[in-house]
Amino acid sequence: MSSLSVTGQPKLSLILPFHNEAGILRDLFQRLYPALSQLGLSYEIICVDDGSTDKTYQALLREREQDLRIKIVRLARNFGKEAALSCGLRLATGLSAITMDSDLQHPPEIIPELVAKWQNGAELVYAIRKNRDTDSQLRRFFSHAFYAIFQKIADIKLPEGAGDFCLLDRKVINAVNALPERNRFMKGLVTWVGFHHETVPFEVAPRPRGSSNWNFFHLLRFAFDGLSSFSTLPLRVWTWSGGLVSLIALTYGVYLTLRTLIYGADVPGYASVMVGILLLGGLQLLSLGMIGEYLARVFTEVKGRPIYFIAEQIGFDDKP
Ligand code: UDP
Ligand code: MG
Repeated sequence: MSSLSVTGQPKLSLILPFHNEAGILRDLFQRLYPALSQLGLSYEIICVDDGSTDKTYQALLREREQDLRIKIVRLARNFGKEAALSCGLRLATGLSAITMDSDLQHPPEIIPELVAKWQNGAELVYAIRKNRDTDSQLRRFFSHAFYAIFQKIADIKLPEGAGDFCLLDRKVINAVNALPERNRFMKGLVTWVGFHHETVPFEVAPRPRGSSNWNFFHLLRFAFDGLSSFSTLPLRVWTWSGGLVSLIALTYGVYLTLRTLIYGADVPGYASVMVGILLLGGLQLLSLGMIGEYLARVFTEVKGRPIYFIAEQIGFDDKP
């Protein structure tokens, strides 16, 4: 049967990034298989072990003993989920690919729906999260704020609730693979390349085991990575605020000069001077910091280092 073939081009590549998910792995595959066998398509499962320090890699090897469609890549260290996904997309040979989290927060049961939309002509199918109940209040607030700001100032429109659970047609995979940047904000890149997209809603499940690999500062940095890759507004806004502040200062200067000419000099004004200095000092530091953020990213890009290094890859016929 073609869906069991190990060689040849599969119809679907499932890409799963793993970072210390040994405890969940068995459950994951147990839920994946019913969903995948329902498709009646040939598929490969590309598991990217992103520098796990637990037994994830060994557990993946055990899974492969049962099923040769499982292909395993072990990255040389933890490069982050975005790098792991980029690696998976480059190694994928399918006519389409699905990227999803391996912690079972993305339900494998909706894979058939994603595939159906693809078969009906969509080139990009986003799974959109309906609920954020599994996130803390604070995380929800920031996530919402992020989307709101992103929609306003970035050059692309991210569908709210779209994450890294999506299906990409071969055309989109090739487009994303062709992007050379090191700063890989995947959902932004996938949206940026364009193509006809559709959405499928899903409920996010709580993490059955383990804990999220992200903390607040990671998320904040991730959010700014995303913004800075797709908008230069944070850089340009200072020109306008600088102009505005100068204009106010000039007006105030004229007013002070006239007042002194008419009423003579007096010395109050300590407060206004302090406020002026502090405000301008703050603005200058902020704008300098913003330039620094972009400069740091330019620096990373200019160095041109590879996005990841592969330590081991198992099950891929042609090794790069
Ligand atoms: N992940 C990864 N590398 C990392 C962090 C996470 O490959 O450095 C994987 C992780 O194993 C999971 C997915 O990315 O499959 C999402 O991670 P997590 O659940 O920590 O993120 P959240 O769901 O909180 O966004
Ligand atoms: Mg998760």
